[in-house]
Amino acid sequence: MNIQSIKAYSDNYIWLITTNEGNLVIDPGEALPVINYIQQYSLGLTDILITHHHYDHVGGVIELKKDITGKVIGPQNDQIEGLDEQAIQGMVVESCGLKFDVIEIPGHTLDHIAYYLADPRQPRLFCGDTLFSGGCGRVFEGTHKQMYQSLEKLKALPDNTLVYSAHEYTLANLKFAQEVEVNNFHISEYIEVCQKKVELDLPTLPSSIAIEKKVNPFMRCSEASLRQSISQKMLGSKKASDSEIFAYLREWKDSF
Ligand SMILES: [Zn+2]
Repeated sequence: MNIQSIKAYSDNYIWLITTNEGNLVIDPGEALPVINYIQQYSLGLTDILITHHHYDHVGGVIELKKDITGKVIGPQNDQIEGLDEQAIQGMVVESCGLKFDVIEIPGHTLDHIAYYLADPRQPRLFCGDTLFSGGCGRVFEGTHKQMYQSLEKLKALPDNTLVYSAHEYTLANLKFAQEVEVNNFHISEYIEVCQKKVELDLPTLPSSIAIEKKVNPFMRCSEASLRQSISQKMLGSKKASDSEIFAYLREWKDSF
């Protein structure tokens, strides 16, 4: 299996997965970059997988659908044009010989799902706009509690799970992470690693669940250092649950 990122818009990644049985793309927000790539490498497209309804994730579906030999699979949302199959929690989506577990992760949008390849040697997660490296998506449709619970679901995946997010937001996210946890040396180390990749025009992704647990404040709501920082900034002596800490953190990031 080979996984390639295709850039779209200013900072979107469309993930292209190639196996012996075919090629699939995840979240083709634009058709042209995908068409250019598959023509350059003489690939045919089998299936299209969608994580949520936002335009920068589905904008290329109708055009690409003309040329696929398989299906367009996405969340349970009739607003998404061109869907052949709707995927819900617990379902297994089979594509190009791969079996993706569907995980419902509402919050960024209510329809948001992730696709998880459970191979224990190397698990992989395609999580759209829910989990980014060093951050998470904005809460547009769901509640903060829903988003927190969705991130906890992803946090429970094996540490070695590779994380394929849909945007290159890593360095900007880590700047905020550093502001929140001044003394977390994992963050400054990871900034250096990512900086080098960006300078070489390489994606900072995939990340991993292990890395995110160390550097991503939204994955660290129960950590004492983070709670202390939130208390100083906005809470005072008020008590807060982990999901409330998440909500404060998300609000802080929204205005950062
Ligand atoms: Zn989105």
